[in-house]
Amino acid sequence: MIAEVIINSNVKNLNRKFDYIIPEELEAQAIVGARVLLPFGNKKELEEGYIVGIKETSEYLDKLKSIAQIESKLHLSDEKIELAKWMAHRYFCNISDCMKLMLPPGTTAKVMSNRVNDKTQNFVYLTKEADEIEADIESKKLKSEKQIRALKFLIENVENEILSTDLQMFADVTNAVLKTLEKNGYIEIVEKEVERNPFIHKVIEKSQNLVLNSEQQDAFDKINASLQFNEYDEFLLFGVTGSGKTEIYIRLIEEALKLGKDSIMLVPEISLTPQTVDRFLSRFGEEKIAVLHSKLSVGERYDQWKKIERGDAKIVIGARSAIFAPVQNLGLIIIDEEHDDSYKSEMSPRYSAKEIASYLGKQHNVPVVLGSATPDMTTYHDAINGKKELLELTKRANNASLPDIEIVDLRHELASGNKTMVSQKLHDEIEENLKNKKQTILFLNRRGFATFIMCRDCGYTAKCKNCDITLTYHLKENKLKCHYCGYETKALTVCPECGGKNIRYFGTGTQKLEEQIKTMFPDATTIRMDIDTVTKKNSHEDILNSFKKDGIDILIGTQMVVKGHDFPKVTLVGALAADMSLYTDDYRSGERTFQLLTQAAGRAGRGDRPGEVVIQTYDPEHYAIEASAAQDYEAFYEKEIRYRSLMGYPPVENLMAVLAACEDEVLLEKACKYLKEYILRIKGQAQLDVIGPASPGVDKIKDIYRRVIYVKAPEYRTLVVLKDRMEQYIEINSGFQKMRIQFDFNPMNL
Ligand code: ADP
Ligand code: ZN
Repeated sequence: MIAEVIINSNVKNLNRKFDYIIPEELEAQAIVGARVLLPFGNKKELEEGYIVGIKETSEYLDKLKSIAQIESKLHLSDEKIELAKWMAHRYFCNISDCMKLMLPPGTTAKVMSNRVNDKTQNFVYLTKEADEIEADIESKKLKSEKQIRALKFLIENVENEILSTDLQMFADVTNAVLKTLEKNGYIEIVEKEVERNPFIHKVIEKSQNLVLNSEQQDAFDKINASLQFNEYDEFLLFGVTGSGKTEIYIRLIEEALKLGKDSIMLVPEISLTPQTVDRFLSRFGEEKIAVLHSKLSVGERYDQWKKIERGDAKIVIGARSAIFAPVQNLGLIIIDEEHDDSYKSEMSPRYSAKEIASYLGKQHNVPVVLGSATPDMTTYHDAINGKKELLELTKRANNASLPDIEIVDLRHELASGNKTMVSQKLHDEIEENLKNKKQTILFLNRRGFATFIMCRDCGYTAKCKNCDITLTYHLKENKLKCHYCGYETKALTVCPECGGKNIRYFGTGTQKLEEQIKTMFPDATTIRMDIDTVTKKNSHEDILNSFKKDGIDILIGTQMVVKGHDFPKVTLVGALAADMSLYTDDYRSGERTFQLLTQAAGRAGRGDRPGEVVIQTYDPEHYAIEASAAQDYEAFYEKEIRYRSLMGYPPVENLMAVLAACEDEVLLEKACKYLKEYILRIKGQAQLDVIGPASPGVDKIKDIYRRVIYVKAPEYRTLVVLKDRMEQYIEINSGFQKMRIQFDFNPMNL
């Protein structure tokens, strides 16, 4: 028999099937989807591959090598292989790159077949009846004290499963004693898989369903109809924070369970807290639930994976990659906080979990539910253009009121002599909150490493004249650069708008903020959460737990503090410099700012007290800030879509990023120039715009230089055709051989 094998490699030439002989002794294990180890090329070590087909014979029969080993603990279903093929085409990568995503990480074929699996344990069973053993002791056929001790322990505990290690400890015998007993036919030692339980020692009370309000009921009914009738539909569940979306998810999962179907629910990695999971545990119990996220150990992930594959877990809760969970009978996909960037992978394969969800929804005829208080522009655009069904929840479910939001104009603060990061208004609110023994969250919504410049007198920021995107300050060259089209100019010292000389560079600042707060409020307790303080396993959660449990007065951090947590005692949230995310080098900066501020406001006043939110900004009239203060998504959308339309950015037009990387900067520049010229040459009548080449946010990583060219087009197809032609061009020109070129469609981050 011959196996068609895909080699595990991201080398482009190897992205095809290779024929291998299946040795007779391995035939029983050889199934499509299994991983194999095999000799390849001149390599000394065995390579890993996947069997994707089995056939009787091959036209190259006399030249074929044989498969060396088959790993049969984990394998991919036919459907997953199909999905991997689709993804490879969609995301321009090798099939094996996609297959890898679909198996638990850290479980390569080599690991699985060479290592004694640390989660299998030896159990000991008696193979003779108790009286028979007694008789043997009586007749002195059995003499060894130790052997007798072990057997007596087993007889006494015959109703329990006994681990070999436990038996050795409790009966005080060695493994050798047990081996002898096995040899003499008294016991049997059986290796079995045991499941490590990530919910250990949790006492969860069963909770009851709530009576849905009419908006919830309406949304539930519509999605449930698709579920019951086996129809693929996509829904945008657009509901303010606390409007009861999670309650709807729970009901839908319950319906799926009644139909014997499995549900996958994705949540952003950062919101995948015990708090989130507990709500599902308390409704469904732990037997039916599997949790998948990056903090689980390799063994734990493997267990969860197997639990799903066996069909024991019918509900999968996890971060992005949980979309590949090996469910047996998919019935429902839910993506909570669907606007979150983490659903798009920024590493090859640059897949979008939302696109995979659509694919699976169509394949299995099941509904896909996207939930958010601040939907992604693209999702909302689809919803109002009839590509998704829009379901709205307009009220908070438990009647909690939305917080009061106040905008503070930082230009006036400076004019009145306040040089700290904290405005008078925010200062007073913090003081009041401390007096009332309530908690405060202060955050700087900054991401990445980009710094921008701003005039502190009038709020002017330097933008690219071509792209209307904020220019990034490069300290070394003292220049301002557009990370989008490559435009650059000398850094300013005088504001071109107002002539002011208070030009400032904005960078990080959580540490500085904490220092200022400590000086202002020496008696207040503070805790800081940012990239510097969050490093160790669980530390992110440790900080939040400590803030919650130890009643720390003020939590200070980057935007990670405002995502999806529930702090009943927080009544004040301060956004220290709302503009920081407004002026990132990205066409989505307005959208991100709106999302962040709106989500942050959702943190305040979740308990019985109404919340207060203070947004500090140099640009109080910016629509993203005004709309978030008014908690008005539609108003934001209207303005933002006009900007996207004017500039030809997604979702109005489509964008393709061509990312090129190379050790040789000169060669890279040249290659990018040729690529751009090539695009312009073959463009013909096609409607498309070429932008760049430019340096992406970080233009050199580990001595590899990077450049990016953007292509905008109204039609997605245009870009796909262009990409195919570019690939051919790249392949036949040896000049590109030293380069790594990747394509990314509608990238989330420029
Ligand atoms: P979201 O997921 O939209 O943020 P949740 O489902 O977490 O909203 O609901 C917010 C709060 O309102 C929770 O405490 C929840 O228990 C409560 N809640 C949700 N639906 C109802 C309902 N129908 N009746 C009463 N309380 C509800
Ligand atoms: Zn530009």
